[in-house]
Amino acid sequence: MDIPSIIGKKIMVFDLDGTITPSKSPMDAEMAELFTKILDRMSIAVITGGGFERFEAQFQALHCTPEQRSRLYFFPTTGTRFYRSNDGKWVQVYADEMTAEERQKIKDAFDQAYKDIDYHDPETVYGEVVEDRGTQVTFSACGQEAPLDVKEAFKAAHNSRRLALADAVRKLLPDFEVKVPGVTSIDVTRKGIDKGYGIEKIEEHLGIPVSAMVFVGDALYEGGNDHPVIRTGVETVSVKDPEETKVVLKQWIADLDG
Ligand SMILES: [Mg+2]
Repeated sequence: MDIPSIIGKKIMVFDLDGTITPSKSPMDAEMAELFTKILDRMSIAVITGGGFERFEAQFQALHCTPEQRSRLYFFPTTGTRFYRSNDGKWVQVYADEMTAEERQKIKDAFDQAYKDIDYHDPETVYGEVVEDRGTQVTFSACGQEAPLDVKEAFKAAHNSRRLALADAVRKLLPDFEVKVPGVTSIDVTRKGIDKGYGIEKIEEHLGIPVSAMVFVGDALYEGGNDHPVIRTGVETVSVKDPEETKVVLKQWIADLDG
């Protein structure tokens, strides 16, 4: 793995699932410690397709001082929302919500696509399957709260059905973006909402040029949900899992202390 120097950069931007935690799982103690060390030295932005509630669920291990927290920025739902900490409290800076009509149109398209390909939910689901997140509508095959082992079993047996459902939805919604991130999800957003858009939002709202950012993700390959950041020209580091991310962070902490 090639680790570029962090010197001259102003912010590290991370994908969440598969990069700093296993999919929809909590951050471990070692990652939390590395994060606080980084936050003493520079800013961190996290960008994910998931909602803000994912931050609360996955960052419990991260105990920051107010000063460290002031350098941590969260861009959920692929950068269509931005949260930052103000006096120790999280505040939403903006949200690019879709209209109620757009969201209904997407939910109707899922109903129709189920019929078109004769798709049925698994017998046991954990929470909502098609969830309206305001800025996007997200399908999770086993439900939004399904444990990772359940999702991985679904993927192993039925991933082709997820892809077929995404194709069916895509045909019904030519004016929307339909993506298949994570293990069992389908995300539908307005067109042009991807992690490249998220990088542009970070630049716009934090006033940090793309040239002063570095992006770390586990899906930078062609077709991966991190791949769109490449069009912004941001420097990237491709990792295969959170363990590799720790190796990168240790190197960068050493660079910053050098
Ligand atoms: Mg990922």
